[in-house]
Amino acid sequence: MKATEIRNYFNYINGEWTASSTGDVKESINPANTHEIVGYYQHSSLDDLNKAVSGAKEAQKQWKKLSGSARGDYLFKAASILERRLDEIAETMTREMGKTFPEAKGETARGAAILRYYAGEGMRSVGEVIPSTDSSALMFTTRVPLGVVGVITPWNFPVAIPIWKMAPALIYGNTVVLKPASETAVTCAKVIECFVEAGLPAGVINMLTGPGSVIGQGLAQHPDVDGITFTGSNGVGKRIGQAALARGAKYQLEMGGKNPVIVENDADLDLAVEATISGGLRSTGQKCTATSRVIVQREVYEPFKERMLQKLQEITVGDGMKEGTWMGPCANESQLETVVSYIQKGIEEGAALIFGGKRLQGPGYENGFFVEPTVFENVASNMTIAQEEIFGPVLALMKADSIEEALALANDVEYGLSASIFTTNISRMLAFINEMDAGLIRINAESAGVEMQAPFGGMKQSSSHSREQGRAAIEFFTSIKTVFIK
Ligand code: NAP
Ligand code: MG
Repeated sequence: MKATEIRNYFNYINGEWTASSTGDVKESINPANTHEIVGYYQHSSLDDLNKAVSGAKEAQKQWKKLSGSARGDYLFKAASILERRLDEIAETMTREMGKTFPEAKGETARGAAILRYYAGEGMRSVGEVIPSTDSSALMFTTRVPLGVVGVITPWNFPVAIPIWKMAPALIYGNTVVLKPASETAVTCAKVIECFVEAGLPAGVINMLTGPGSVIGQGLAQHPDVDGITFTGSNGVGKRIGQAALARGAKYQLEMGGKNPVIVENDADLDLAVEATISGGLRSTGQKCTATSRVIVQREVYEPFKERMLQKLQEITVGDGMKEGTWMGPCANESQLETVVSYIQKGIEEGAALIFGGKRLQGPGYENGFFVEPTVFENVASNMTIAQEEIFGPVLALMKADSIEEALALANDVEYGLSASIFTTNISRMLAFINEMDAGLIRINAESAGVEMQAPFGGMKQSSSHSREQGRAAIEFFTSIKTVFIK
């Protein structure tokens, strides 16, 4: 199958590809060239959602009875199929949401690795033996699935995020109803095709597209959805959490970030510059773990800034499918407008714009949502661009006189997802580990790198204080039973 084929993509409900009951479809367009349609996806209704949930509920009765290794076999198969289709799915991702083709390929390969990781998890321990005070009794814990899990995902990692939620849900015996971001409905449909080809029984995995406020909210409120896992913005996440809490369902929310990097006077400046640019601007800054605040010790501020400005000249912005493109467009028009309005706010509030700052127009940019990589300096911590998640290629430079001041600035936001420091001094590293309020602590490495076998998630307003990925996923996707046998 070619990535450039324009098709109608259906919902996958109870083992069948079906059109939505509304009969409506929406088009998915390429943010690098808005004349290009990537495909059409279903504008579903609550009727479709009810069918998906009842299919998942029925299928779970048998799915949970399979052994972990039998469930794992399906995930191993899906991994191989995803790998076989890697180039095509990555190209679809680039054309649908704009990230560069090499990044899209990396993400798709990560998807296959996550599937294999959780396939293996089907063979690992799910409990522990706890000595009873009664020497003639056996006491142990075991884990059981939640039941039907609702999965709501954003567009910025349209392959990896659905997989890092669905794979652990499935391996521990849950069935899934996925509502992917509308922006990347086609890419997600192709991921589901891989699961379908792997031969999962009908109803074990379901996917339907449509408005978040209808299908996403409907999933959060549905009485037969036992757990809901969400990644996306804080506003939506809180609403989903409230809906789940109101009916006593388990929920997990992974939300925004305003991630800092601290550069100390003993740092390898070349490394710090490279990691700041990569962490801040790759994927056009549209990562929840993207660097957005750059706190530099005063002594090395000027040399750091100079090297960074020099490096920024080398960035090529363009269509992510074009060879040599380093940064693609914003994923959609409203994202572009948001970025431009934050840049405007930065100027109005008195920060100094020292690089970029404009929407890109002219040859090669006419039909896309392109914006320049942008850097501000003289940013005060209470300015909007230092406080709110921009989700675009905008960096705010700040100065600090000491590690204490740098840490105070770094912690002066409501978010706490990821944070980096560049230093060779062990006591500064330890201070950073101890004092930085973030779920991901990165030392001499960019804020945006994560590994799938380690826990992932944020502190403060960045998450519901749960973690996903790696072994941590078992905490959300199962319940513990404590068993006592006399
Ligand atoms: P979003 O607007 O919150 O959307 C996320 C998902 O929720 C989409 O599937 C969306 O559907 C759905 N949705 C929208 N409104 C809803 C509602 N009222 N009720 C229920 N569901 C609803 O976020 P986004 O713009 O796609 O993604 C960007 C955000 O995600 C950023 O804040 C970023 O930091 C965060 N993010 C966090 C992580 C993390 O792991 N912490 C990772 C990646 C991204 P539609 O697409 O149909 O609107
Ligand atoms: Mg698009």
